[in-house]
Amino acid sequence: MQKLEKLVQKIKQFMNKNLLHSQSDKGQITEALSILMEAEDLIANAKNVLVVTGAGISTDSGIPDFRGPDGVWTKHPEAEKASHIDYYMNDPEIRKKNWRLLASGELWSNVKPNDGHKALLGLEKQGKLHTLITQNVDGLHHAAGTDPDKIVEIHGNIREAICLSCDWRDDIEPVLARVRGGEEDPRCDCGGLLKTATIFFGQMLVPTDLERMFDALEASDLLLAIGTSLEVSPVNSVVPGAVDGGKKIVIVNGEPTSMDPFADVTILGSISEVLPWLLNNPNS
Ligand SMILES: [Zn+2]
Repeated sequence: MQKLEKLVQKIKQFMNKNLLHSQSDKGQITEALSILMEAEDLIANAKNVLVVTGAGISTDSGIPDFRGPDGVWTKHPEAEKASHIDYYMNDPEIRKKNWRLLASGELWSNVKPNDGHKALLGLEKQGKLHTLITQNVDGLHHAAGTDPDKIVEIHGNIREAICLSCDWRDDIEPVLARVRGGEEDPRCDCGGLLKTATIFFGQMLVPTDLERMFDALEASDLLLAIGTSLEVSPVNSVVPGAVDGGKKIVIVNGEPTSMDPFADVTILGSISEVLPWLLNNPNS
């Protein structure tokens, strides 16, 4: 009876929200609901969840996918060029343009975490969030309040600046203030070039971050991949890794991914609407 009541309640919620993409008839709605409930059960039964997030979780915060029609790289091709370490190191004009763009605040002005980022706090409250690996550099998981010790920003972040010659690393704001004050190509005290603490094309990922990712995979019993196409290495390797280790896999994304066949459950839908629904379940 309880289960039936729960189902009726969920159907009502579901009908109100147009939660998932493209269900038009009863059969599809029933199928979509059973998929959601299956995912809920997997999460309810999991003890240690490894969450992997990509650009899709931040699109509802107004950060378009870099390569999409409204993407940063489509609108600002120089920003993409500036993301190749060789160009960046060898061309002062690229560095100047990049600093100007960053200092203008035009890139991602006033972005805030959305309900998808916030929903992950539910998982943390239940003590189930083992590690959150994000491919995003936007810092929105930090802004949402996820424990920073649980977050691995595998592609770095834009909150900090680093020196390319020494190990200096600090908040980027004072550097941006220097740019606004007239320094076109700011340098480190050691004379080295500065850049955002993001991983550029042609740069190695941080080995300790990779280690944390694989350790977390080993320690977890469920992989929850959210808003990532799972095309970019090495993050996509967590899926075959999870299959190998006999872990459960749930994928939530706006469109199908090439890793869907490996998942126990794939949910195709709006991330900022699906996640609160999935993770705030009082029974999980
Ligand atoms: Zn330096």
